Amino acid sequence: MVTTAERSDGKGQVIRFHLNQPVDSFQVYQPDVDLIQMTLYQDNIDTADIQLPNISSAFDEISFYDIPSGIGIDIYITEDKFYDGKAYHDGNSDDLLLGLTELDKTELEYLTKDTEPIIWSSFTITEKNLLEGNGDDGNTAENTDYDQTRNKMKFDVVVIDPGHGGHDPGSIGHRNVKEKDIVLDISKKVGDYINEYMPNVKVVYTRETDKFIELEERGSIANEAEGDLFISIHCNSHTSHQPYGTELYFLGLERSESALEVMKRENKVVRANNDTEQRELSQEELLVYELANSSYIAASEQIAGMMEYQFDERAQRHSRGVKQGRFVVLYHASMPAVLIETGFISNPSEARYLTSDRGQTYIASAIFRAIRNFKEGNGNP
Ligand SMILES: [Zn+2]
Repeated sequence: MVTTAERSDGKGQVIRFHLNQPVDSFQVYQPDVDLIQMTLYQDNIDTADIQLPNISSAFDEISFYDIPSGIGIDIYITEDKFYDGKAYHDGNSDDLLLGLTELDKTELEYLTKDTEPIIWSSFTITEKNLLEGNGDDGNTAENTDYDQTRNKMKFDVVVIDPGHGGHDPGSIGHRNVKEKDIVLDISKKVGDYINEYMPNVKVVYTRETDKFIELEERGSIANEAEGDLFISIHCNSHTSHQPYGTELYFLGLERSESALEVMKRENKVVRANNDTEQRELSQEELLVYELANSSYIAASEQIAGMMEYQFDERAQRHSRGVKQGRFVVLYHASMPAVLIETGFISNPSEARYLTSDRGQTYIASAIFRAIRNFKEGNGNP
């Protein structure tokens, strides 16, 4: 059983794990400002016996997972609270205490930046695989290193595609801001975040300068790089100044009316002599793609949903939703692929936001967090 209490000095919380025998070992990880994870190793612990406490306002959720010889615990902290977690044995009982001390947000962000969340299901998968194996007695499960398991999950190349470029400016927005310039700035910020916080992931750009690249060529660059995720970054536009907000697209047969407008624009190729060519994917091409890439499509929809969550909930942008569309640029990348409309540069206030360093930082960090969560396989929603 677990109880929680406010610290007597009001500067934190204490979670008490009521145990009938001391744990063999325990460890606390803090992979994010809103997540504290623990492992408790003791053979007789059964998560079915653990009762959840009445969650206080400091916690969003506490969950338990069975892992070999112990349990894993996720403690989600309420959004506006920032705690440093440390665990210790209670001197008067077998209980284990987790002390949460209030900490400054920036300090906590610094402390958590190099820690990756533990994927509890990776323990379970390993355990199962060993049981299904060649009659092995399963002892190696004890030595299962979470890092070893994780290393097998390949996700090491992200391809970032800044839309348009060169003689193709993309949409022209309020005060003549150009889509091609904004999306290049945002793309580089996303790449910088990945390089800094996910050093094991390689970033490949389809363009790093103001140069024109064909839609098919962008997919080829991604395929040659053996990308695990393709992200095409764009800005939206409308004849009215009113519309605003982000949109996420992944390749598919279904399409809405609004998707049609965006597709026309993003599938348009501007030639050097200013002629334009309108590309379209046929129903048959799409069907073939869906059959061959159903797992990519599912993953694309998942990452699109995770980005929408980050834009809407974390970056406080208005999300216009996740949609399907026949985008040529996505069709040629053989990997999970999404197209992001980061906002309407035809809307004066959104144009200002998207050209500001602050706005670009918000958008890029939201995209980065979704990529990180996608890699860890623990996404919202
Ligand atoms: Zn575009």
